[in-house]
Amino acid sequence: MNIILLGPPGAGKGTQAQRLVERHGMKQLSTGDMLRAAVKAQTPVGLKAKAVMEAGQLVSDEIVSALIGDELDAMPATQGAIFDGYPRTAPQAESLVAILEGRGRKLDHVIELDVDEDALVERITGRYTCATCGKGYHDKFEKPAVEGTCDKCGGHEFKRRPDDNEETVRTRMAEYRAKTAPILPIYEAQGIVSRVDGMADMDDVTAAIEAIIAAD
Ligand code: AMP
Repeated sequence: MNIILLGPPGAGKGTQAQRLVERHGMKQLSTGDMLRAAVKAQTPVGLKAKAVMEAGQLVSDEIVSALIGDELDAMPATQGAIFDGYPRTAPQAESLVAILEGRGRKLDHVIELDVDEDALVERITGRYTCATCGKGYHDKFEKPAVEGTCDKCGGHEFKRRPDDNEETVRTRMAEYRAKTAPILPIYEAQGIVSRVDGMADMDDVTAAIEAIIAAD
């Protein structure tokens, strides 16, 4: 099964993708994570992408589609893929058709997480992770039980994404509205779009996604 999780930044795509990975052994293909890894490793792609990402703009279609193709090539043909943060533009959506066809895969679902933008800004600007194990926290909604100590691994270092500040978040949302939301009709025409209330409790969002998948 191959699924696209669609929604603006902070809608919970990453969290829900991780849950699908745990429950179904699928693989999360997050172009954002791939690009952040490239920036950290200072690869040619990372060097190109860094400033664009920090400004909240979109990295070129060629770069992200190549990353996705490479990741799919490295996966067993039978393992399902969750596209998280890709495709984000009409050209990427077109590339994905060819990428999937070339590998004998097809798209089963596009799940859109519906969210309120102002609430998202609060969600995103408050989020941070444990630098050691990656567990996610939030200044307001999910603090560690003991301040400064990770609940999961006991680590004391935490980090924030450089693009999780309000100005960049607003730009990322504008990019979503202008370039990503318009690709939905392509999938609607194929009858594979489902909408989930992304403002609901995380477990309820997971349950709604599970119901969509189980209906197959
Ligand atoms: P994300 O982690 O999905 O919020 O992505 C973080 C940043 O990486 C975005 O703001 C973009 O700069 C870049 N990025 C991630 N995925 C894509 C994509 N599919 N197309 C273009 N840029 C992307």
